[in-house]
Amino acid sequence: MNTRIGFGYDSHVFKPGVPLRIGGLAFDHPEGLAGHSDGDVLLHAVTDALLGAVAAGDIGTFFPPSDPQWKGADSAVFLKLAVEELARAGYQIGNLDITLILARPKIVPVAAKMRAHLAELLDAPLNTVSIKAKTPEGLNLDHVAQCHCVALVERIPGDEELKSMSAVIESQRQLEDVVEDLLSTVHGVPKKTSSEAPVYDTDDIT
Ligand code: MG
Repeated sequence: MNTRIGFGYDSHVFKPGVPLRIGGLAFDHPEGLAGHSDGDVLLHAVTDALLGAVAAGDIGTFFPPSDPQWKGADSAVFLKLAVEELARAGYQIGNLDITLILARPKIVPVAAKMRAHLAELLDAPLNTVSIKAKTPEGLNLDHVAQCHCVALVERIPGDEELKSMSAVIESQRQLEDVVEDLLSTVHGVPKKTSSEAPVYDTDDIT
């Protein structure tokens, strides 16, 4: 299969006096997201989406909350492992679409910075990462941050596959040569040459 998809979801509750980190960025905010790690709801959703895309388990499989070594951990560590698992399975990121849902703080002012930071953490091109933010209208969940992430991943071509792709291109060229020979000998169609005259001759215009 050349492409697969994964979906990740996470939620954390806001708690006073906890540092707030979302998408790997620190926010100056009176409340942070409570969790065993740094509570980065966005990085957790992305981690789960990537692991899910290659059926490699979930964030809790690799980093159980019962393990004291992950207390207060930087969630970028979780994300790095998911990227490694993706590569181990022979896939790379196609694109990610992320939706954050929270009442405060406003994400729009830092959305571009967050997107660039996430692309850097993933070692992926910027245009493969999309981050959108919404408020939880009508859900009575202003004390919670949620995040959804859909990930499309693409199979990385192996050496053998690259060789066979080159062989196909070469055989295509040979086929074109045979057709050109036939057209030339049977129908008298002139063969193309590398020194073929350009379509427009500017001397004629002047
Ligand atoms: Mg979490």
